Amino acid sequence: MHPFELITANTVSDAVKAQAGSATAQQGAPVRFIAGGTNLVDFMKLNVETPRRLVDINGLPLNKIERMPDGLVKIGALARNSDVAHDNIVKQQFPVLSQAILSGASTQLRNMASTAGNLLQKTRCVYYRDTASACNKRQPGSGCAAIGGHNRMLAILGTSEHCIASNPSDQNVALTALGATIHITGSKGERAVPISEFYLLPGDTPQNETILAPGDLVTHVSVPALPSGTKSAYLKLRDRASYEFALSSAAVAVKLSNGRIEFVRVALGGVGAVPWRSHEAEKALQGKTPTPENFRAAAISALQGARPQSQNGFKVELAKRCLVHALTQVMQQA
Ligand code: SF4
Repeated sequence: MHPFELITANTVSDAVKAQAGSATAQQGAPVRFIAGGTNLVDFMKLNVETPRRLVDINGLPLNKIERMPDGLVKIGALARNSDVAHDNIVKQQFPVLSQAILSGASTQLRNMASTAGNLLQKTRCVYYRDTASACNKRQPGSGCAAIGGHNRMLAILGTSEHCIASNPSDQNVALTALGATIHITGSKGERAVPISEFYLLPGDTPQNETILAPGDLVTHVSVPALPSGTKSAYLKLRDRASYEFALSSAAVAVKLSNGRIEFVRVALGGVGAVPWRSHEAEKALQGKTPTPENFRAAAISALQGARPQSQNGFKVELAKRCLVHALTQVMQQA
């Protein structure tokens, strides 16, 4: 592992200052925040990330989960994935989020991994992890070994000719369906960014994955209340039953009124370069009756823009069936 210095931030302001001088907050940042370390340390061992300074933020008071008077739920950046998934407020208001988190990683990893760390979880593209391979995300301008290579697990929506990596997180798919907001404190003060604007498509700069700038610290995530009577669920399809990333997943939230869909949210995982909100599917479902035919039509709309690679064409049909099944399951809830 590359040598590094470890310092401790005692306040949010200390943390922001410690990272503000970093040349970037994206791939290859020389200064990194560390919380659970479940993702960053892996990449440091592989020399994919080589920060010269780590800023330990575990002592900051950012681990609460709170329900606000308007029903909005604030989840601290340092709240551990296990704590969020098992929190009574989250389980009652946002079962889709609890289910998504519990479908990811292992109990041990969820006990360590933080909410903000999960937001920034890196792709599992095998070439990104291998410093001998061409990878525009790890080393801009070097090429993309996954195009024409091992790309079975990678994305079919939102990709570019420079990168076809998929976002691996389950949590982020649920937060996208829920319309969460990411709260950031940086050198210029505080700001709130909708999750739909937090992630960047790869385009010709796949090394830039989020809008975070040097010194930006995610402090918490806020999730607005769903309309009363909304049901939500997360379905994840993968090669084995646990400790595996999604081939395809779907986070859905649906409310019926007089037998028709009055409110609906759809996000897909395992298939997008970023957690993938499907406005096309939502539009196709709005006002419709919850029938298998209407679910299938929505799924076809959601995958219309898919651009499969040499090994992942199966994901187009898999993602459609995943969405249809998730919608069917949520309708079967008592
Ligand atoms: Fe790198 Fe992206 Fe290509 Fe994978 S898909 S090799 S992460 S550029």
